[in-house]
Amino acid sequence: MRKPRTSATFSSQLVAAILLACFVGTAAIFFLGHTAVRTVDEDAEARQRRFAVAALEADAAKLVSDQQVSTIWSEAVLRVRAADHPWMEANLGLWMHEFFGHDELYVVTPADHPLHVWRNGKTERPDVGATLPDPLVGLVRKMRQEMREKTTNPTSSTDDISGLSIQEHVLLGRQPALASVTPIVPDGPDVRQAAGSEFLHVAIQYADADMAGRLAAAYEFQDATFVLHPPAEASAAIPLTDALGSEIAWFAWTPDRPGLRLTRQMAPVIGLFALCGAGLLLWLLRRLWVASHRLHRSEEEARYLAFHDPLAGIPNRMLFEERLTQALKLEKRGGPPVALLCLDLDRFKAVNDTLGHPAGDELIRQMAARLRSYVRETDTVARLGGDEFGIILMGMGSDEALARYCSGLVHLLSAPYDLKSAQAHVSASIGAVRAADVEGGMEALMRSADAALYRAKGDGRARFGIFTPEMDAMFSRRHEIERDLRAAIAAGGQFHLLYQPIFDAENAVVGAEALVRWQHPTQGLLAPDVFIGIAEETGLINPLGRWVLEQACILAATAGLPKISVNVSPVQLRDELFGQQVLDVLAATGLPGRMLELELTERFTLDADRATTANLDQLRAAGISIALDDFGTGQSLLRYVRDYPIDTIKIDRSFVSRLGTGDGTDQVVRAIVDLSRAMGIEITAEGVENEAQRDLLLGMGCHVFQGFLLGRPMDPLRLAALTARKGTAQKRA
Ligand code: C2E
Ligand code: CA
Ligand code: CA
Repeated sequence: MRKPRTSATFSSQLVAAILLACFVGTAAIFFLGHTAVRTVDEDAEARQRRFAVAALEADAAKLVSDQQVSTIWSEAVLRVRAADHPWMEANLGLWMHEFFGHDELYVVTPADHPLHVWRNGKTERPDVGATLPDPLVGLVRKMRQEMREKTTNPTSSTDDISGLSIQEHVLLGRQPALASVTPIVPDGPDVRQAAGSEFLHVAIQYADADMAGRLAAAYEFQDATFVLHPPAEASAAIPLTDALGSEIAWFAWTPDRPGLRLTRQMAPVIGLFALCGAGLLLWLLRRLWVASHRLHRSEEEARYLAFHDPLAGIPNRMLFEERLTQALKLEKRGGPPVALLCLDLDRFKAVNDTLGHPAGDELIRQMAARLRSYVRETDTVARLGGDEFGIILMGMGSDEALARYCSGLVHLLSAPYDLKSAQAHVSASIGAVRAADVEGGMEALMRSADAALYRAKGDGRARFGIFTPEMDAMFSRRHEIERDLRAAIAAGGQFHLLYQPIFDAENAVVGAEALVRWQHPTQGLLAPDVFIGIAEETGLINPLGRWVLEQACILAATAGLPKISVNVSPVQLRDELFGQQVLDVLAATGLPGRMLELELTERFTLDADRATTANLDQLRAAGISIALDDFGTGQSLLRYVRDYPIDTIKIDRSFVSRLGTGDGTDQVVRAIVDLSRAMGIEITAEGVENEAQRDLLLGMGCHVFQGFLLGRPMDPLRLAALTARKGTAQKRA
C-alpha cells in the first residue's frame, strides 16, 4: 500500500492554524490586560499628581496662616517699630522655627532691609543697611507693589492690606524652598500705619527631607523627596517653578501602580492558569493531530482503494479509464501518441481450478509485477478485472514499434510462474491498438483493443494482435451472433440436426454423427463453425449441447441405428453435472449407453481438472464410448490417449485429404493406426472424399469411414432411407 503523502502536512496545517489562533488570542488578552493595567496605573498617577499639587498648595497656605498668627497683631507692629529684638525672637523668629518648623525667618523694614533674622540655627541682628538674600528681594518688591496697588487710604493701609501674602518657590544657594511674605499689620484700630511704613515678615520652608516626609505622611506618597534634577522615569514628579517660571526643583515619589500591583499579586494564579491552559491545549492538539491524521489517512486509503486493485496493487478499471481519457485529450492537443493494450491470461481458469484460488491470486500478483517492470513510468498498467489487464502506452509512434513492444511482452509473460505450490506454464494474449488508428473516443478504443485481443486468442495462444478495421467488423459480427444465439436458445425452434452416416469396410452403416445447424432468421442456414466457438465462450454451449444430445438420442432410440455420435465441448465436460445429465437423457429416451458415443475434440486442450475426469469415468461406467475427434490437430497427440479412457480415435480430415500426396502423411497415419490397434482403440477416418483415400486407409488397417464419398450430413428421413438401403452392421451380422 502506497503511503498517503499529505496527511502529515494536513494535520500540521490544522495544528498550526489552531496554535496561531491561540497565539493571537493570548496576545490579544495580554494586550488588553496590559492596556487596562496601564490605564489604571496612569489614572492613579494622575490622581497622585493632583494630590501632590494640592499638598504643596496646602503647605504654602499653612505657611502663611502660621505667619499670620503673629503678623496680624498690633503688639507686633509696635515691637518691630521699636526694634525689640528679644520680642521678635520670641514671636517672629526663633519661636516660629521652634513652634512651626519654619527654616528661615526675616523681619523686613519699610526700606526693605532685614531687621531681625533667624537662619542657620541662630538669631541674627543685621547691620543697618544689610540686604536680603537675592531671591527674596524680588519677592519683597512684589509684595510692596501689590500693597501699593491695594492701598486706597494712604494714612491707614491696614484694612486694604491685612491678610495679603505672596508665596513663591526660590533657590537659596542650592536649597529649594518655599518663601512666603506677608505685611505685619495691627489687629485693632488702636494702632495706625501710613502706607509705605509697614514692616514685612518673610518665612522660608525648605523643600527638604522634612517637608517631603510631612507630605508623604499626610498623603501617602512613597519615597517622597525633593530633587534638583528631573527624576528617572520610574518616579512620578511635579516641578517647583520660581517666579520666572523656571523649574528649580521637583517633588518626586514612587508612584503607586495599583494595576501593576494587582498583576504582581495575581501573577502566580495567572501563571498557574496559563500553565493548565497550555497543558490542556497541548493535550487537545495532540488528540486532534492523531485523530485528523487517522481520518485523513483512512480517507486517503479509501481513495486509494477506490482507484486501485487490492490484489494486484495497481490501478483498477476506474483509474485506468480516467487516465486513458486524459491521455487521449492530451494527444488531441499535440501530446504523445497513445496506444492501448488489452491483455488476457490464457488458461487462467485452469490454474484456478487445478491449483486453487490462492495460486490464482499469486499468479495475478506476479503477472502484475512483470507488467509493471516492463512499462515505463509514464505508462499505466491496470487490472481491468479477472485475468484481464490493460496498459496505456505514451509515445508509441508506429505499428512496427508497437509490434516489437507486444512481442517482448508476450515473451516476458510466457516464462513459467513460481506459485509456491507449483510452477505454472501460462501465457498471455495481447490486443493492441494505436489511438491514431481509431475514430471515436475511449470506448471505441477499448472495443478495438478487445477485437484485436479476440483475434489474437483466435489465432492461438501467446500471441498479440494489432487492430485493423476488419477486426472491428468481425468483432461486431461476433457480438451480433452472441446476442442472436442467446435469443435463439431462449426461443427454441431455430436449430435442427443433420446426421452424417459412418460406414464400415463393407459399406454397412455402423452409426451416424449428429451435426447441429442454425436456421438464422435473417442470415439463413449457419454452419456450426460460425457459432459453436461463441457458444463455448459464453457458456451457451451447455443448454445447446443438452438439446443436441436429447434430439440425437431420441432419433437413435427410434431409428434403429447401431450407434449415435454426439459432439461434446470441453466446456460441457467441465460442468460437474454433465455426466448425470447425459445419464438422465439416456434414461428419458430409453437409449442404452453402449449405443452412444461422445466425441471430444482434440483441437482444444482438455484441462485435466477433476470434474472432467469424474464425468468421463461416470460416462464410461454407463457403457458410453468416448471418441477423440480431429485427432492429429492438437499439440498433444497421444497424451490424451494415455491420460483418458478413449475408445475411438477419429483421424482428422486434414490428414485424410493429404493421403497419397507423398508428403509423409501416409506414414504418420499408418503409425497412428498401428499404435491404436496395439492399444485396442478403434479408428475412424474422417472426411473421406474419394475411393483412393478409402483404399489407402483400408490398406493401412483402418476399417471405419466417414465422409462425403459415402454420405453427407442429412436429415433423419434420408438417413432412414440410407440405412434401409445399405443395412446396418448389426443386421448384416
Ligand atoms: P466435426 O466433428 O469434425 O464434424 C465433421 C465436420 O466435417 C462436419 O462439418 C461435416 O460436414 C464435415 N465433413 C464430413 N465429411 C466431410 C468431407 O468428406 N469433406 C469435407 N470437406 N467435410 C466433411 P460441420 O457439420 O460443419 O461441423 C463442423 C464442426 O462443428 C464439427 O466438426 C464439430 O466439431 C462441430 N459441431 C457440429 N455440431 C456440433 C454439436 O452439436 N456440438 C458441438 N460441440 N460441436 C458440434
Ligand atoms: Ca465430430
Ligand atoms: Ca472431426
